[in-house]
Amino acid sequence: MKAALCTRFNAPLEITELMLAPPRRGEVEVTLAACAICHSDLHFIEGAWGGALPAVYGHEAAGFVSALGEGGSAYRIGQRVLVTLIRACGTCACCSDGRPMLCETAGTAASPLSLPDGTPVTQGMNTAGFAEKVVVDSSQLAPLPEDIPLDVAALLACGVITGVGAVFNTAAMPAGASAVVIGTGGVGLNTIQGARIAGARRIIALDVAPEKLHAAREFGATDGVLATAPDARAQVLALTGGRGAEYVFVTVGAVMAYEQALGLTAPGGTIIMAGMTGNEDYMRLNPMMVAYQEQRLIGSKMGGTVLRRDIPRLIDLYRQGRLRLDELISNRYPLARINEAIADTAKGGTRRNVIVFDSFGQGAP
Ligand SMILES: [Zn+2]
Ligand SMILES: [Zn+2]
Repeated sequence: MKAALCTRFNAPLEITELMLAPPRRGEVEVTLAACAICHSDLHFIEGAWGGALPAVYGHEAAGFVSALGEGGSAYRIGQRVLVTLIRACGTCACCSDGRPMLCETAGTAASPLSLPDGTPVTQGMNTAGFAEKVVVDSSQLAPLPEDIPLDVAALLACGVITGVGAVFNTAAMPAGASAVVIGTGGVGLNTIQGARIAGARRIIALDVAPEKLHAAREFGATDGVLATAPDARAQVLALTGGRGAEYVFVTVGAVMAYEQALGLTAPGGTIIMAGMTGNEDYMRLNPMMVAYQEQRLIGSKMGGTVLRRDIPRLIDLYRQGRLRLDELISNRYPLARINEAIADTAKGGTRRNVIVFDSFGQGAP
């Protein structure tokens, strides 16, 4: 099968022929219809998060089940499924606590990928979705109904659940709250629409790009503030009765954004840390101020998502037009043009670029 292989950090991916082992017990092979490009893929390709090469990245995918491991599965051949990086054993302490994204024992299975000469290839983020097929653990899948296009559905695998889940699950934000969302990329726009659906009374978007603040309003932001404006903090305070926001979501992996968040949070307020920085990044904070104002800082990984609970919820909201997904797609590219798509994503102005495979037009193989 064809895949986009990373052989060197910070270099174009090579479209090449790879071997994919058949699914083992508990695993499923999925022929992909679509895989979106996420900023996490860029971080890996740039080498910011390390990892062994050669590797295949890509982790926001959807497609059709094309083979099942021994012992059967809850899935059937031809079924439409979402493919995510959330691999969970179902029995460790975190899985038992309903937090599969923190599974303590998953992720140790050998990669199903290799070069034709037998050289092992890393399965990036447990998925390796920049390829015509993937073999993943069945815990990474969620069933998809017939009425959602697979390129649109692919977005549910990461950016949407990370953003909406930060509001619904991590923050459990009550209706009527005030919210600031720092960063209006893929995750940020989904945090904004999550806050709208959750009934926030005010949603203030911050970004360094003025044109993105306009898009933020389309997704539900009530106000836009240029993050680099010298009076950015004063503007947020003016919009929140001088208090700051009760919930401040950081959706970009930038230390500056985290440090800015501290000054925008109301007494007793909560900062939700969803943006993933580089391995060596640290922020400065004044512990006395956090303690004195009883603020909370909460990490949010994959929006605290439980696939079987959250994906049906999101699809229902999409069907009603309350969760906007089609509008999140900037462009579609064939696998052969993935480097173009990645370069476009790296420029920062796009929402989601999606790689669309042959099976997208053809239906179940
Ligand atoms: Zn992602
Ligand atoms: Zn587990």
